[in-house]
Amino acid sequence: LPVIAIIGRPNVGKSTLFNRLVGKKLALVDDRPGVTRDRREAEGHLFDLDFKIIDTAGYEDEDPKSLPGRMRQQTERAISDADVALFMFDARVGLTPLDEEIARWLRGTETPIILVGNKAEGRAAEPGLYESYKLGLGDPVPLSAEHGEGMADLFQLLQPLIETDAFGEDGEETEDEGGPLKLAIVGRPNAGKSTLINRMLDDDRLITGPEAGITRDSIAVPWEWQGRPVELIDTAGMRKRAKVQDKLEKLSVADGLRAVDFAEVVVLLLDATLGLEVQDLKIADRVLEEGRALVIAINKWDIAADKKALFEGIGTALDEGLAQVRGVPLVAISAVSGKGIDDLMEAAFTVRDAWSKRVTTGELNRWFRDAVERNPPPAPKGKRIKLRYMTQARNRPPSFVLFGSRVDKLPMSYQRYLLNGIRNDLGFGGIPVRLTMRSPK
Ligand code: GDP
Repeated sequence: LPVIAIIGRPNVGKSTLFNRLVGKKLALVDDRPGVTRDRREAEGHLFDLDFKIIDTAGYEDEDPKSLPGRMRQQTERAISDADVALFMFDARVGLTPLDEEIARWLRGTETPIILVGNKAEGRAAEPGLYESYKLGLGDPVPLSAEHGEGMADLFQLLQPLIETDAFGEDGEETEDEGGPLKLAIVGRPNAGKSTLINRMLDDDRLITGPEAGITRDSIAVPWEWQGRPVELIDTAGMRKRAKVQDKLEKLSVADGLRAVDFAEVVVLLLDATLGLEVQDLKIADRVLEEGRALVIAINKWDIAADKKALFEGIGTALDEGLAQVRGVPLVAISAVSGKGIDDLMEAAFTVRDAWSKRVTTGELNRWFRDAVERNPPPAPKGKRIKLRYMTQARNRPPSFVLFGSRVDKLPMSYQRYLLNGIRNDLGFGGIPVRLTMRSPK
């Protein structure tokens, strides 16, 4: 279970929130004599989120002189054990020196911190909530642990940070990444798609020929590459010879792109004798927009002239033409001779790994803090955009959520800066990565 710590000075209402999240009965269990009192842990729930919660209460009885030292130990231990920390202050009282001291301890911690202004029912809390901005921890969540107000806002912030089951935006469950590699091969007519699939399968089940668009339909065919299972989703190529003879139809690229929906990794096949054309870039863009991992293969390498210049030229044109995703893997193959197919498959498995990868919230935020420090966000119209933390909401494709205030004003150029950093620094190179922004209400 993900772990949430509640930290804050005595009497701000930590235990009240703890009890509310745990349910009173359970919380009381730990109050038995002999049970350590400076840290309580229990299973908690907030709507459909399940987690373990740590309450650092218990130093209320301490001698005021030794309090900060003991608290600091407790707080630091709790934070290092937690996936998220709720830093609670009393919004009616406003900030005290101890609150500010705790905020200083939190600087540099990798654990995401949610600032919670408790006792926020009614207007008396407003000055305290405003004052809390000076802690530099972003917008406070107004909460009334006693009355149960603000729990939905808290939920909204917590959910992406601790939800471990990745469900797609469309509700589709993330699949097992160890399953067969679902591979689609797309490209303009005559690029050599059918020839390549034939070569892989090593039999005659596909028809190939010089006629453009000889193949159609979309079927998955099981294959194995170096002992690893693969499902080839042919754009159109799985049609049996006999059927093809019934009716030869011209196949549009759009028909072929239907296979992209079923694939994890898409191979865009180029024709070395034609080079990279605008339509190829459009197909590549479409694949990336659909959030699929992409590998580009230059086919007919056996008959390519001036190989070195061709390869470099296509590489440069891709990086310029696909500005959103740099470093898409590029391999040279010959579907006819089979040369380069191993490189192609190697690249396909590698991009699937990156596409399926998850980074921990800790690792992500360590990187994020650095990135923001190196290049702070702009202040449009003099108003600062405060970026707080990031989380990877899902994989396949990797999707990140950025929390902060006024993040909706964040320019595209800055979003690209973050996305490029994620790709280059965190091992998501060459694959489509998504970023969405959320401001706590
Ligand atoms: P598709 O429309 O993309 O399925 O293309 P096909 O597989 O039908 O291939 C079109 C033509 O290109 C056929 O005449 C193939 O023999 C030829 N071809 C495919 N791959 C290669 C290759 O690697 N080298 C050469 N020299 N010709 C190829």
